[in-house]
Order: sequence, then structure tokens, then C-alpha cells
Amino acid sequence: MTNRPIYLDCHATTPVDQRVMEAMQPFFSEYFGNPASVQHMYGWETEAAVKQARETLAEAIGATPVEIIFTSGATESNNLAIKGVAEAYFSKGQHIVTVQTEHNAVLDACKYLDKLGFEVTYLPVQADGLLDLEQLKQAIREDTILVSVMAANNEIGVLQPIEEIGAICHEAGVLFHTDAAQAIGKIPLDVQKMNIDLLSMTAHKAYGPKGIGALYVRRRHPRVNLAPQIHGGDHERGMRSGTLPAPLIVGFGKAVSVALEEMETESQRVKALRDRLWEKIRHIDGIHLNGSLTHRLPGNLNVSVESVDGNALLLGLQPVMAVSSGSACTSAKREPSHVLHALGRSADLGFASIRFGIGRFNTQEEIDRAAEHTIETVQSLQSAARGNQNVGVSK
Ligand SMILES: *Cc1c(COP(=O)(O)O)cnc(C)c1O
Repeated sequence: MTNRPIYLDCHATTPVDQRVMEAMQPFFSEYFGNPASVQHMYGWETEAAVKQARETLAEAIGATPVEIIFTSGATESNNLAIKGVAEAYFSKGQHIVTVQTEHNAVLDACKYLDKLGFEVTYLPVQADGLLDLEQLKQAIREDTILVSVMAANNEIGVLQPIEEIGAICHEAGVLFHTDAAQAIGKIPLDVQKMNIDLLSMTAHKAYGPKGIGALYVRRRHPRVNLAPQIHGGDHERGMRSGTLPAPLIVGFGKAVSVALEEMETESQRVKALRDRLWEKIRHIDGIHLNGSLTHRLPGNLNVSVESVDGNALLLGLQPVMAVSSGSACTSAKREPSHVLHALGRSADLGFASIRFGIGRFNTQEEIDRAAEHTIETVQSLQSAARGNQNVGVSK
């Protein structure tokens, strides 16, 4: 494990916290029962543990335990929320409103519905990544059934005004879904105060295990109907069938309870590291901050650098630090990020962008080393580019 690059990609995933590991451990081999086995003790044991985790998650967002539907992660939660509402409310209307900077799990589910005959409005964002609430109001129509706006962006960390958006949707009588994959455990969330009807979560961005998530589905005022997307044994109130992975659910519950307990101190510490990093690298020639600095996740920094090739930059950074350009999910395609594009960044700037995701286990020393290496790498690429230009000129 020695000499591995500094991990600064906490929006892609996070390591499982030791306390979470310890909580999960007994549920792999000792308490292995199926929580749906109601006829014997093996089932009761795991059912009790699942119940406790469900209560923790509900409490974390101001919901009740029956409103928590376990899924395999936020991708599935987003699909269930969007397709499930579209199918259940088809006779009421076929119009959905979302935002251009959403995660692909939202955008692609919407595109799929688009092909089936639904109509989707993809709202633009302002230069700082925030949604214009007037535009949202204008976009909601008589036949709108759902508004889907993420709580925290996975690339630029921008926090949308969820409470205001919830109020607008509530006023218009339209269901409101939010993708809170990056927000859960990092910022306060309250489905009552914020008028949220559906909320997607995942464990692995908050020091829990991969492969477990949940969807909050409001049961009162209004009661949300969802068409299940996975049919089977009628688990999770019929909305999502499949044997519950008790070890993962226990880990999810523990991860969220630790995150809530430490939210205030951790976000201050992580934000201080983020601010320190920005303070050091902001003097780089031609550097731009992407997204609002004030409405932002504490651990996120996203910058674009002029006159630098994006690939060369990532290659130069790689030996020392693990960061990403754009989102991990789309970077395989090597296309400029759709999020930076929506902010109005030119394709070139979008390509030479770095996303830093600072988290629970990063130290000040790591931040200082990362800053130093970033400055050196950018400067050497920029001077090489200038050298090439000069060669070109003298020819
Ligand atoms: C990571 C992420 C997802 C996908 O979550 P998985 O649990 O990995 O499926 C969805 N939305 C956002 C905003 C994310 O950051």
C-alpha cells in the first residue's frame, strides 16, 4: 500500500470507514439469515439489523422508516424514481423537468423516456452552476408530473437551492425528486422542510460499501405512487423486489450515522483543506474555478486551466495524486464534461479540467503536496506549449 498516489477523488467513491467495516463484519457469515425469513431466528436477527439501519436513514432525512426503499445504489434509485413516476402518472401528464448538469443516471433515464414519447425539459444553469428559479417556474406546465434537480453536483460540487425548488414544486402540485448521492452525510437534508417527494441516496460516497443505496418515497401529503422497475418477491412494499443485502444495509446505516455525528466538524476540516488548496493553486496562470465557491460541497474543487492539454495534465498528475477530469462515469469517453459545457466553458477549457474530491482521510500534508505538484505540472506544460509556439513562429 506504500507509495500509492494521494487519493483526491472522493466524488467517485470513498473507502469504507473502519467503524463501518466492524459493524458489517458479523453479517457476512455469523448473522447471514435472509431478512425476509420470518419463521426463524436467522431471519429475525438480520431483519432487526435492517430495521435499525432503515430507521437511521429515515431519521437522517426527516422521513419515516416505511418511506425508505433499499436499492443497489443511486443509479438504480434515480431510475426507479424517474421511470417509476413516469409510468405511474402517465395518465396525468407526460412532461418532466430536469437540469443539464444532472448525473447521467438522471439524464439517461430521461432520454429513455423521451424516446418512449414523454417530453423532457433540460433547464440550463447560470455561469456559477446554479439553477435560475424563475426559469424553473416558467418550465412547469399543466402536464408536468415530475421535477428532478440534484442536491449536490458530482463534478463541481454546486449545491442547488433545494428548499426553494421544493417550495416551487409543492406550490405547483408537481412531484419533486432530488439526487442526493453526493449530499447525504455532507449537508443537512430534511424532506419535510424541503418539500422533497423522492430522494436518491448511495452509501459508497459517504464511507459506506458499494452496491447499496436507497430511495426515499413520500407516503403522505402527497402519497407518491411508483411503478416498480424490478418485479419479484414483493420486497420493499412491492417497489423493489430482491433479497435485502443485510451486511451492506448495516454498513450503509453505520456510515450515515457516523457521517451525521461528525458532519459539522468534518465539513469544517475538509472545507479548510479545500480552501487551502485553492489558495495555493489559484495563482496559476490562466486558472479558472468552475462553479460557485459559496454554494458548494466543502470537499470539492474543480478548476480549468488554459493552454494545457487535458490528457497531458492528467498524465502528469497521476503518479502523485488520484484526481479526475470531469466525472469518472463519463471520462472513459474522453469527451468534454457536459457539466462544464453547461457552465459555458469552451471545449478546450472543459477538457483541461481537474476535479479534486477531498475527504475524511486526507491530511494537510497531502493537500500541500498535491498543490505543489499541480503547480509544477501545469507550469511545465505551459512553458513547453510556449516553447512549441516559439519554434512555430521562428520557422
Ligand atoms: C455517484 C453518483 C450517482 C450514482 O451512484 P451509484 O451508487 O454509484 O450508482 C448518481 N448521482 C450522483 C450525483 C452521483 O454522484
